[in-house]
Amino acid sequence: MMTSAVVIGAGMGGLATALRLASQGFQVTVLEKQPRPGGRSSVLQENGFRMDMGPTILVMKDVFDETYRAIGRDINDCLEFVQLDPNYRVYFHDNTYIDLYGNMAQLAAEVEKVEAGASENLFRFIGAAAKKYQLGMDFVVRNYDHITDLANPIAGLRLLQTSSHERLYKQVGSFFKSDKLRKAFSFHSMFLGLSPFEALAMYSLITYADLALGMWYPKGGIYRIIEDMLRIAGEMGVQIRTNAPVAQIAIEQGKVTGVYLESGEFVQADLVISNADLPYTYKKLVDSRHRKHYTDQRLDNMNYACSGYLLYLGVNKTYDHVRHQALYFTDDYRANLDAIFVDKTLPQHVSFHMNIPTVSDPTLAPRGHSLIYLLAPMPNLSANINWNTAAPFVREQLLDKLEDFVDPDIRQHIVWERQFTPVDFETHYNAVLGTAFGSLSQGFFQSSYFRPHNKAHDIEGLYFVGQGTYPGIGMPMVLLSARLVTERILQEWR
Ligand SMILES: Cc1cc2nc3c(=O)[nH]c(=O)nc-3n(C[C@H](O)[C@H](O)[C@H](O)COP(=O)(O)OP(=O)(O)OC[C@H]3O[C@@H](n4cnc5c(N)ncnc54)[C@H](O)[C@@H]3O)c2cc1C
Repeated sequence: MMTSAVVIGAGMGGLATALRLASQGFQVTVLEKQPRPGGRSSVLQENGFRMDMGPTILVMKDVFDETYRAIGRDINDCLEFVQLDPNYRVYFHDNTYIDLYGNMAQLAAEVEKVEAGASENLFRFIGAAAKKYQLGMDFVVRNYDHITDLANPIAGLRLLQTSSHERLYKQVGSFFKSDKLRKAFSFHSMFLGLSPFEALAMYSLITYADLALGMWYPKGGIYRIIEDMLRIAGEMGVQIRTNAPVAQIAIEQGKVTGVYLESGEFVQADLVISNADLPYTYKKLVDSRHRKHYTDQRLDNMNYACSGYLLYLGVNKTYDHVRHQALYFTDDYRANLDAIFVDKTLPQHVSFHMNIPTVSDPTLAPRGHSLIYLLAPMPNLSANINWNTAAPFVREQLLDKLEDFVDPDIRQHIVWERQFTPVDFETHYNAVLGTAFGSLSQGFFQSSYFRPHNKAHDIEGLYFVGQGTYPGIGMPMVLLSARLVTERILQEWR
């Protein structure tokens, strides 16, 4: 008889696990709370606009390639990718900008415009980040059982030689004198829910992955990947049920037997893989008598990542002077980051990520229109912020900045608009504390061996996939997590 597996949640990691297990002969059912699969990588399709709601930056494309290869497909036969160049335009408070190119000669020329003589240090910085990437990946693509699995003395020593234990911003500051360049080469840790002032210098490996490995855009948007996974799931016989929130994981004598839906229906399964936020899964879906290791208190004491405010705009105009991806940093970078990560207050001046995908793909909007996506990192819901009043305040600030960079008349050209606040992350996806990119921040003690493992301690047949377990946050990482949990399941269930 086939082994039956239930995956809770149709996020990218959940879907990738479903495909991998189905291709290995498991009978897989995916149960998703929302009406639409995709989780944090969802889409808005309204009035002729097709807007990716979550991730827009696709790096480490080799991980996407490998996901498809593992299920016997070629991703490049299924989807069309274009490389973005430059990767980002970075705007500063004084209305200047630089373009961050993947091409090193062009990048060096941009850096020289800001700080004469800085290109030599740029190459040193990229070289050091490359080393961190190479060494760091050894700790990323690995299933952990014992703390000794962490011990790779040679890699550890070489990492120490790169001073990976220093703070990211401080280390970037040792390469660049200019405040602008320090911002442009340190912000990446925010993608992991960490302030560059707190994050380990280790995380400049993300800057390397971003700049040197290339940034890609799948035609039709990131949601095309989800749609394609759903198509393959259909071909493989994976059952995907939406509007099917799981209320409880059923456990008998220390073993998983299936799940109860909120409707009261019981779905039998030999194993359950939760793609829902890991701390949420333990706390809300597993009765406390079955989890001595992850008590409510322990879960509450973990470090949670930041959230974000998103504004999605459809505009009845197109622009030649903008880039597909951009970032804006406010003058007082530290004050902005401290408000989000330390003081947990509404930042008085926002920094944000701007994505205008119609620059590369006009099919996402009606003819002559543009899509503008704005993401401002915000404190999570542990902060005392009333989002009914905060949202209009942040929106106005974002539109003021768009007047500076995109169009002085932008407000008159908005024909479609939606927003998404930290509260929505909680209500839509059961994201703990409304965290945006992932629930658990990725400091040292919540990474690799120290991040909650992809197999439950006390419960046989319960596994985890997605940003809450290792390796962590971001699309490539959750795809790697699908690979790791599948490898573990195959070892244990074959
Ligand atoms: C605004 C934003 C921007 C981002 N930008 C980038 C980027 O540019 N590049 C990048 O690589 N990453 C980015 N990320 C991060 C990336 O999107 C996530 O880390 C990743 O998509 C998480 O995938 P996951 O597999 O962990 O599942 P999730 O997307 O977290 O999905 C979990 C699913 O479980 C479902 N669920 C929860 N509870 C239940 C229940 N009880 N029953 C049934 N289903 C349930 C949820 O509804 C959801 O569909 C971004 C995220 C956001 C939100």
